[in-house]
This record gives sequence, C-alpha cells and structure tokens, in this order.
Amino acid sequence: MGMIEEARRGIVTEEMREVAKSEGVSEDFVRRGVAEGRIVIPVSPYREVKICGIGEGLRTKVNASIGTSTDIVDLEMEVEKARQAELAGADTLMELSTGGDLVEIRRRVIGSTRLSVGSVPLYQAFVEAAQKKGAVVHMDEDDLFRITEEQAKAGTNFMAIHTGINFETLKRLKHQGRHCGLVSRGGAFMTAWMLHNEKENPLYAEFDYLLEIMKEHEVTLSMGNGMRAGAVHDATDRAQIQELLINAELADIAHDAGVQTIVEGPGHIPVDEIEANVVVMKRVTNRKPFYMLGPLVTDIAPGYDDRVAAIGAALSSAAGADFICYVTPSEHLALPTPEEVYEGVISARIAAHVGDMVKLKKREGDLEMAHARKELDWAKQFALAINPARAMEIRRQRLPSDAQTCTMCGDYCALKIINQHFKF
Ligand code: SF4
Repeated sequence: MGMIEEARRGIVTEEMREVAKSEGVSEDFVRRGVAEGRIVIPVSPYREVKICGIGEGLRTKVNASIGTSTDIVDLEMEVEKARQAELAGADTLMELSTGGDLVEIRRRVIGSTRLSVGSVPLYQAFVEAAQKKGAVVHMDEDDLFRITEEQAKAGTNFMAIHTGINFETLKRLKHQGRHCGLVSRGGAFMTAWMLHNEKENPLYAEFDYLLEIMKEHEVTLSMGNGMRAGAVHDATDRAQIQELLINAELADIAHDAGVQTIVEGPGHIPVDEIEANVVVMKRVTNRKPFYMLGPLVTDIAPGYDDRVAAIGAALSSAAGADFICYVTPSEHLALPTPEEVYEGVISARIAAHVGDMVKLKKREGDLEMAHARKELDWAKQFALAINPARAMEIRRQRLPSDAQTCTMCGDYCALKIINQHFKF
C-alpha cells in the first residue's frame, strides 16, 4: 500500500511521524496533508533515506542539483558535490548528469548520500539516443519508460517528468514569441523530438503507463517545468501557463491514482510577478507542493546568481512555495565546483528561512540571535548561525583587542556602551 493510500485510511506511517516530529506539527496534520496531496514524503522501497516532508505548513526545503556535463565528467567531483550539498544542509539532491557513464555516476552518488535523490529520466534517454543513434530526436519511447523504471529501481526517490509539453503547449510557445527561447534541457529535448517525429510527447500521451511505474516503485512525481522562462522578460507567458494547466490537471490524476506529486515552477521571474505565480500555481493545482526553480529575479548578475535566486526564493517561499531549487554562483557560466555547490546551498537555505519567517512565522532563531548579540555572547551567536564555520573564520581573521567586541566599532562598541549604562 502506498503512502497516500495509508494516509487516506487514517494510518499514520513511521515517515509521517518523523516529519511531524521534525516540523513540530501534529501527526494528523501530516497524514491529512499526504492524503489530500498537499504534502509529499519522498521514499523508495530500494533504499533508506533521511525522511523529508515537502508541502503546506512545513519548513521550506532546499534542493541541490548536481551532475556532469558533456565537457566535464569527473565522478569523484560529483560525489564530492553530493557531500558538500549534504554538509551545507540541503534537504534533497538531484543527480542530473548528461556526460560519462550515467548509470554508474547515479549509482555512486545515490550510494554516497542519505538525502532523497531526484532525477530526470529523459536526460538519459535522450543522451543515449544521441550517443547510439546520432541525435536526440532518435530517442525511442520504449527506452524512455525502460530508463524511468531502471532509475526507480536504482533508488531514485523523486523524478522530474516533463508531462506538460504537448502540441497545445508548443502552439502557445510558437505564437508567444520569446526573447530567450527555451532554457530547460528537458523542454528542449522533448520539443525537438516532437517536432522532428511529428508525435505527441509520450510522457503526456502515455501518462497512465508512467503512473503505473511511479506507483509500483513508490517514486514521487515532480511535474517538470520545460517551458519555464530563461529571462525575466519572458516570465509568466502563455506557454508557461499552458504547461502549468496541463501539469495541474495531470497532478490531480496522479494523486487520485495514489502517486505523490509535486509541481515545478519557473525559472526567471521579476519580483513583482513572483507572488502571482505562486498564488496561481497553488490555486490551479489544488495546493500541491510547489517546487520553485530559483527563481532568478534579474538577468544581469552572472557570477552572483546564487544571490539573485535567493532573493526570488525568499519571496517565493514567503508567498507559499514549499520547495526551492538552489542556484550556484556559476549558473549561466559553467558547471559548478563542489565549493560553489556549498555556497549555493547556503544561499538557498538563507532564502528558505527568510520565507519561513513570513509563511510560518518561524522567528525563534532570530530572537535568540538578537539576545546573543545584545549579550555579546559570541559562542551562542556562532551556534545560532546558518554557517557557524564562516562566521567564526571571519571573526578569527580580524580579532579585536577587547574580546567582548568586534573590530567593526572596537572601543566604541554600541552594545557594550549601552549595556554599561542602560538596563533593558
Ligand atoms: S563592535 Fe560594533 S558591530 Fe561589533 S558587536 Fe559591538 S556594536 Fe556590534
């Protein structure tokens, strides 16, 4: 019996209990969320993972995507990226390799982490078609479903599946006109395949078969966002909304069939459109967990896109997004290094916390930090910091002459002066 079925029957599973405990909510709150499709808990019958609930009323979760490209294939570096992502506090990991031995890379990465791992099975199907048959447009539909099942059996907990791209979506894309085309690899692969073969997207046309695989192997379905804008000037256009509508309808079908489901969102969005995106998405999907990719709120800061995405992610989370995908400083420029993966996760965790301060009113940590600062209690400040090591290192590099203060104000430390002369 799958998680949704158990929740519907009133059964609180061990996973639901764990989520309730870690989130500080009641077990029945989690059970009802799962039963009604507002919360998912990615699991796999093939491997044990650190349990992580995603959805309404729960802390905003952070995903770190890693993986090789055709230019850089370094298996040990990918394993190190997985390690750095976990060390930095990521909640989930997506393994998105497109270069090298994809099966072996996934096996090693999955074996190196306790986090739930996600994948995009169509990458492997299209990459293998390009390697064996000369072009991605020669991808075989049966291979796509076979690979999906193989990845499920390898212990993948959730999969981004590009179900919402059909000929209706492509018609919208064509008539819309875009400044920056299509930036989703999955979206580009599938669009090219459909147009070349003049065939409907098999993930849409054979959605029932896809659900059978998802259900049999207890994979959480993440409805992919292949039409997401790759520039703020393309945000919230008809192609994006068309795909969302299809995904929303399919998400209901998936949930009814007992498949845990997340719906993915864009991409690049200017600040004044973020809340509208979250509200519309939540409304049309009947409050399914919303997985926001970024979003990037400006296009002119390459080298700093972890910060650009953190602004968007904080606003998205505050408006109701449940799950955010990190962005690294090397986005748009190069494959990230393990250090950049670490930086990206920290930026996204800050954004998730800022969002939760609004969405869930989670501000206890900030209050404790205020008191620790007032008391000039440095040990406590480090303990409360999102990244204690970095905070300690900065202080250590420029130690003050008075250990109570810091070198910012030195002898004129406002906190020390006021503590001596005023009782709050
Ligand atoms: S020296 Fe200035 S910055 Fe440092 S703790 Fe005191 S008031 Fe804060």
